[in-house]
Amino acid sequence: MNTATSYETLVVGGGLAGLTCGLRLAEQGVKVAILEKGETDRYLCNSRICGGAFHVSYRDVMESPDILMNAMKGKTRGFSRQSFLDVMANEPGKTVNWLKSKGLRFIKVGDAPHRRTTLAPPIATKGRDYWHGRGGDVMLRTLHAELKKAGATLLLGTRALNLRMAGGQCVGVEAEQNGARVNLDARNVVISDGGFQANLDMLKEYISPAPEKIRQRNAQTAKGDGVKMARAAGAKLVGMNRFYGHVLIQDALTNDDLWPFPMMDEMCCAGVMVDTNGRRFVDEGAGGVYLANHIAGMQDPLSTIVVFDHPVWDGPAKEFITPANPLLVTNGGTVHKANTITELAQKLALPAGALEQTIAQYNAAVDAGTTAQLTPARSVSSHKAWPVRTAPFYAARLCAGITYTMGGIAIDGDSRVLDANDNPITGLYAAGCCTGGLEGGDAVGYVGGLSKSSTTGFRAAEHIAANRAR
Ligand SMILES: Cc1cc2nc3c(=O)[nH]c(=O)nc-3n(C[C@H](O)[C@H](O)[C@H](O)COP(=O)(O)OP(=O)(O)OC[C@H]3O[C@@H](n4cnc5c(N)ncnc54)[C@H](O)[C@@H]3O)c2cc1C
Repeated sequence: MNTATSYETLVVGGGLAGLTCGLRLAEQGVKVAILEKGETDRYLCNSRICGGAFHVSYRDVMESPDILMNAMKGKTRGFSRQSFLDVMANEPGKTVNWLKSKGLRFIKVGDAPHRRTTLAPPIATKGRDYWHGRGGDVMLRTLHAELKKAGATLLLGTRALNLRMAGGQCVGVEAEQNGARVNLDARNVVISDGGFQANLDMLKEYISPAPEKIRQRNAQTAKGDGVKMARAAGAKLVGMNRFYGHVLIQDALTNDDLWPFPMMDEMCCAGVMVDTNGRRFVDEGAGGVYLANHIAGMQDPLSTIVVFDHPVWDGPAKEFITPANPLLVTNGGTVHKANTITELAQKLALPAGALEQTIAQYNAAVDAGTTAQLTPARSVSSHKAWPVRTAPFYAARLCAGITYTMGGIAIDGDSRVLDANDNPITGLYAAGCCTGGLEGGDAVGYVGGLSKSSTTGFRAAEHIAANRAR
């Protein structure tokens, strides 16, 4: 075991959270090293392959704190820690302005509020290489160049394994570098390794009975190292059972042209979702992130099907920037089409009588405005319920796609890691998608990965820099 150079701060993970934190520290004169397990300077991570929209619960990050707070509360419905909400209402716009001062460029993509601050150039709307030389990729390269100028150290090929603790305080990291174990000393450690979505054992423990039947809709670099090392150091974990993700067509499990886009959310939220008995099992109006979580939590996450008619295929299915119509078909997805519901049921080997009855009851409730009385109830406040009436009818088998885990290490408003009694653990911070306490809960409230990662990374740096002299 080598004892390497000591730093004032070590940051674990070189995604948006880690680079924001590292750069903000370095520009204030803090001696900082970022440990990144990826070996080449274009290492994969979610930040590199993302869609680039900086939003707070689908509102633009530049909007007023009141608007952002209301949007978050509407989504998270009492789940979130108040100090986390306060930070996410007040700080994301400031953080984005700072990122702009470091050379990041943003543009408005379309009219939706959540795409007004999108990384430039935007991702391509099709192809496996959709992210190359685009938003997230350019963002990381720009931040790397700025880190170099500011004198920070980026240690590639360095995987943090354990936190080094002494007297209840974090004093460094044990890491693996070029096949050897090294001890790195530091006064502060910031964990920002991106979550645990790519760790199937942890997914099984917290999220799904069959994680191998969930599509990894992410860079597959987040193995839960940060959560595990924080837990071993006494950190509290919160909201571990929820994830941000989308519903995908089942073929995405074997066909890489069908993830991360197109998503099935629009058709699921407009149409009817059934199980292998031809019966509804979920509130389709609860939104795509909720539906993906519900599917992942089922005993068999590959047992669900969406049914819709031509007006949905010709309407909502065309709405997103990477639309299901036509990408589902052109990219090789299996979309079943029939002139009657009976014929559709036969194509999917579903009991025809049950499916006909489900659709008839659903259509009658839509016509009467009584979808809330269906079992399960079908809400319409966020997503209109469309009848399934006009041929041709369509159906596709579904799967859940996991993008990042919402739960993780509990932090306070300064990104300090909290123990079981909600007291900060000295010298230990966490930022980005390995943190918990903001997103999730019963409503699976989504706030936003990029805003969360940049803001919590920035907050950690501010607190560390402000407390240097003490
Ligand atoms: C397809 C896709 C589209 C998305 N679109 C959007 C969007 O439009 N808007 C939005 O808000 N969010 C979006 N997201 C989510 C967003 O990308 C993430 O929430 C955010 O980038 C996470 O940043 P992070 O720094 O926390 O984690 P990451 O970017 O995942 O970085 C973590 C880094 O830590 C490294 N690491 C892991 N373990 C260790 C270890 N033990 N030691 C050292 N290094 C380690 C990893 O290699 C990785 O580089 C999208 C994600 C995907 C996959």
